[in-house]
Amino acid sequence: MAKRGFTTQLIHADRQLNSPEFGGAHSSTTQSVLFEYQDAQELVDVFQGKKLGHVYSRSSSGSVSALQNMLNHMESGVGALCFATGMAAIASTLMALLRGGDHIIVSQFLFGNTRSLMQTLEDFGVRISYVDVTDIRNVVDAYAPDTKMVFCETIANPVTQVSDCEAIGKFCAENKLLFVLDNTMTPAYLFDAKNVKASLLVSSLTKYIGGHGNVLGGSVVDTGLFDWRNFDNIHAAYKGADDSQWGLTQIKKRGLRDIGATLAPDSASRLSVGMETLALRLNKACENALQLATWLNSHSQVKQVFYPGLAEHPQHFIARQLFSSFGAILSLELADHIDPVAFLNELNLVLSATHLGDTRTLALPVASTIFYENGPEARAAMGISDTMIRFSIGIEDIDDLIADFTQAFNQLGK
Ligand SMILES: *Cc1c(COP(=O)(O)O)cnc(C)c1O
Repeated sequence: MAKRGFTTQLIHADRQLNSPEFGGAHSSTTQSVLFEYQDAQELVDVFQGKKLGHVYSRSSSGSVSALQNMLNHMESGVGALCFATGMAAIASTLMALLRGGDHIIVSQFLFGNTRSLMQTLEDFGVRISYVDVTDIRNVVDAYAPDTKMVFCETIANPVTQVSDCEAIGKFCAENKLLFVLDNTMTPAYLFDAKNVKASLLVSSLTKYIGGHGNVLGGSVVDTGLFDWRNFDNIHAAYKGADDSQWGLTQIKKRGLRDIGATLAPDSASRLSVGMETLALRLNKACENALQLATWLNSHSQVKQVFYPGLAEHPQHFIARQLFSSFGAILSLELADHIDPVAFLNELNLVLSATHLGDTRTLALPVASTIFYENGPEARAAMGISDTMIRFSIGIEDIDDLIADFTQAFNQLGK
């Protein structure tokens, strides 16, 4: 049978990968915290990892496992774990895998809270080199014999720098480094992470996967490309017969179980439903973003547009090779005489709100909000000016979005 399409697979994944109970065409949510075993020996075997099963829902449960199966299937990985939020997934993964004294290479263009988390890791003794990951030469220069990992995002927000993922993946493979990629901005429908040899994919499910601004979640997927036998931070207890599972086992035990930032079953169900329309929403949002970016780029009251789909974007060529479309985040510098906050107040359809990856188009002045705590120096290193506005483009009809921007520009031009 021919391989089915992306959405077909997702829509039918619950019946193919799991078995919904009592003939329900949609999966039900399973809420039980505890799991009963008729034979106590079976319970012992599950505890010891000799048999597959759930024992306590902080570590695993039905609806969360169903979502993990879908995410793993979507990325063609060897396993997935879900967490309460994207930050929980990133923090649990890094804290489970790194030790004080390790050296890691990290993108200098990072989601603000991830950047802050890196500072916590530094407080615990992890040594971090922050580099411009749009150019592989900076990663090569930062490499040291004790380097363990490279961490970056596919497309950084708000300036939309694109990491040179293919070159970084190749470099990591050659030097046996763990390549951890945050692909929140470019889920599997847009981007083939295995093609760039990523080892672990971390993601905020809160964004495009959930898609409707009504649930938080995070995930880590192991692509199966990294040889964990080369990673000396794996504890003996987690080195089972199948070495492809060593990393995830340690993340599950030391990260998910011990830190305890578990995804709730209700949230998992909501994320599974949201994910069914991932491709439909992304198609529309990315198409809107490209049209809007092109229109804004030639607008007299706009100084600069940051969007990887524009030919003058510094990584446009890399983006064309990596992604099937260019994402739905675009940032702007308005002409000098326009106050960004006043402009946002003139927009009627576009919401002034934090968050991204929603069905609605959202706008935010970034320096004074999500990157405020980072301070002027770190902002400058990320290319974030004081007047930059970030837009997360939604799935509205494009004519209505352009009409809203047009009337806002007209109001301010008066
Ligand atoms: C939002 C986001 C996160 C954090 O995810 P939460 O679900 O909000 O915790 C991490 N990385 C990127 C790139 C994000 O956009």
